[in-house]
Amino acid sequence: MKEFNSVSPEIAAQLAAVVGERRFYMGDRVREDYTHDEMPIYGKHMPECVCEVESTEEVSAILKICNDNRIPVTPRGAGTSLTGACVPLHGGVVVCTERMNKILGYDLDNMAVHVQPGVLLQDLAADAEAHGLMYPPDPGSKTSTVGGNVATNAGGMRAVKYGVTRDYVLALTVVLASGEVMHLGKTVCKTSTGYSLLHLMVGSEGTLGIITEMTLKLVPQPGMNVSVLLPFFDMETCIATVPKIKMANLDPQSIEFMGADIVESSSSFSGKKIFPTVVNKKDVGASILVTFVGETEDELYEKMEKLDALGQTCGAIDTLVVDTPTLKKEVWTARSAFLTAIESDTKYMDELDVVVPVDKIASYLMFVHDVGEEYGLTVRNFGHAGDGNLHIYACSNDLEFDEFWRRNKLLMQRCYTECARIGGQLSGEHGIGHAKKEYLEESVGEVPLRMMQAIKAVFDPNGILNPGKVVS
Ligand SMILES: Cc1cc2nc3c(=O)[nH]c(=O)nc-3n(C[C@H](O)[C@H](O)[C@H](O)COP(=O)(O)OP(=O)(O)OC[C@H]3O[C@@H](n4cnc5c(N)ncnc54)[C@H](O)[C@@H]3O)c2cc1C
Repeated sequence: MKEFNSVSPEIAAQLAAVVGERRFYMGDRVREDYTHDEMPIYGKHMPECVCEVESTEEVSAILKICNDNRIPVTPRGAGTSLTGACVPLHGGVVVCTERMNKILGYDLDNMAVHVQPGVLLQDLAADAEAHGLMYPPDPGSKTSTVGGNVATNAGGMRAVKYGVTRDYVLALTVVLASGEVMHLGKTVCKTSTGYSLLHLMVGSEGTLGIITEMTLKLVPQPGMNVSVLLPFFDMETCIATVPKIKMANLDPQSIEFMGADIVESSSSFSGKKIFPTVVNKKDVGASILVTFVGETEDELYEKMEKLDALGQTCGAIDTLVVDTPTLKKEVWTARSAFLTAIESDTKYMDELDVVVPVDKIASYLMFVHDVGEEYGLTVRNFGHAGDGNLHIYACSNDLEFDEFWRRNKLLMQRCYTECARIGGQLSGEHGIGHAKKEYLEESVGEVPLRMMQAIKAVFDPNGILNPGKVVS
């Protein structure tokens, strides 16, 4: 564990001089928001001060001051992480990028956009669309920052067709712990030019540097889309259909799954029954929501026909088409709010964000449900069936916190061990933060973990950047 210093009045004055008094917050002026992310159950920690930065130069000056004085620095975007990643575990300085929210310009011929890290995902998505383009990464948290998305290698619902954030990062400007500014990558389609520090930075969760500018790849905006809901009696039959859809060369943009319990939570949360629980007088145990994009109605129609035929051979109760703009909006709004729906009727919960081979989804879910039952915890789940990324929640409304946490820890350990055994990984998209750190070695192995620690020491010898996260 590194020893850190606190922010003395002299250092506070230096930091305030960098950003100006109006963008420097200390003591009572620090908002409670900065003490947690969207999983406050992992603990709240107060920073000593917050700097709202507006430029690479400011970030560089702040990091130089903090590195020289051994003060911890936690980068923060919108604070929507689900692993405690942006929480200042050791106090110190929070560097908040929310004011660096400019879309700096498009390079239309090369289908790229140059942005600051504090741009919100929803703003970039809308602006790209207005240029006839699409920024494909699509995490559910539309008010997260694009810098946070890059720092966590965020995934989302379109990953089946388009991949994840890492696949869209062409170039980055990064400020190192020392305050040095590093430019990584170029607006080129491919490269084989030494070790890819660019890709190392993506998903490093603010532990290797602070990203201050990004060049991101865009794709043409698809002409149209349609979603199709396939309801099944049970989860096993439902999930068994997923590899078949992928093998059928239908090229779906997303394949999301949901259990009956999530559908119920979603209905009570929104007050609307968006996803059916009974179809053709039969109870629905689980459903998959498949989305196709294309340029013509004929193209989409052909894919829907093929999916319908496939669904019938795989045991789907029906094929329900989500085609009108209102229906599409309702369905995808409800899907994006699944986590919020669970939160709304749960006292305590913890999350697994594992990724497993697609053919192991159903058996893994059954394993977690069995373990949940053993420990008296309610297990609820939904996720990205097309890529094996499962969001599974261990919940309790009855237990006291200490007892919930004790049982939850036992459940988590068993589920992560099983995940590693079947060839899965600890996190599909939310990252490690500090909440998942203790399980990292089992997931990646002892030697890779040691290499990660060595990389961290090279980038940040004093360990000031986001201490307590990932491998530090
Ligand atoms: C309702 C809900 C739905 C979600 N759905 C998804 C989903 O579908 N897919 C998914 O992947 N995630 C999802 N998330 C998790 C979260 O939104 C993502 O991890 C997101 O990328 C975090 O962005 P942020 O701006 O909030 O970053 P923060 O939470 O502020 O920070 C996250 C991490 O990035 C670091 N960081 C932030 N900015 C920078 C920077 N400029 N330079 C260096 N490091 C930086 C922080 O230090 C921290 O380690 C969801 C969260 C919620 C609450």
